[in-house]
Amino acid sequence: MTGAAILSFRASTSLPAAPATQPWSFAGLDLGMAKTSLPNLAPTALGRLVEGMTPMEVEAVVGRYHRPSLYEGRRYYAWIGNGGMLRAFFKGPGGTLSKVILDVAEEERVLALCGSLRQRIKNCTIIRTWNCIKCRRRFRCSALPPLVCPTCHEVCEHVPFEIKVPPPSRTKAWDEFWMQYKAERALLDAYTAGELRECVKLKIFGIQLKPKVSAKGGRRRTSR
Ligand SMILES: [Zn+2]
Repeated sequence: MTGAAILSFRASTSLPAAPATQPWSFAGLDLGMAKTSLPNLAPTALGRLVEGMTPMEVEAVVGRYHRPSLYEGRRYYAWIGNGGMLRAFFKGPGGTLSKVILDVAEEERVLALCGSLRQRIKNCTIIRTWNCIKCRRRFRCSALPPLVCPTCHEVCEHVPFEIKVPPPSRTKAWDEFWMQYKAERALLDAYTAGELRECVKLKIFGIQLKPKVSAKGGRRRTSR
């Protein structure tokens, strides 16, 4: 995995912290004002989305949208949830639902809006491996919503799929891996925030980070 890929992964996982809500009026309602709960991006909810729905019908299923945006000049509506984002296009007859895209760290999936409910739910379920660090357990289930461990009730962790996690049975290797992983994640966060002060090598991610801003006067002279 390249450094750029890692950083775009980081950017995609930090989506919930995204841009400020802009007030937007739809059918006379100010939908930008109250945004108390995150949208429901679970397969049971997304499986209910079908072609021909109005924006308000989609909102009734998913929750209030974050804001309408433009993609290549086309307007779409975005819902930003914990660990994922949903984009919906309303290009059907009378401005109705025509396309929905679900984004999570590992995949950008166009959702099926026709077919049986069972097929639609299956289509919008993106399976991921979740890890409960504390209980040393591994689960394979939907990327959304983030998995809460059934035993200790803490939110489980997932890693980019290129990264190999030792099996939970090798307890020492497991514990060491997660300690190192968390330390490297913190360094990536510091890098993203422009707070990294020195070069570091990330063993697990396999990349080298350099501070974005060099010390004053650190501009290199180039010969021409
Ligand atoms: Zn647990």
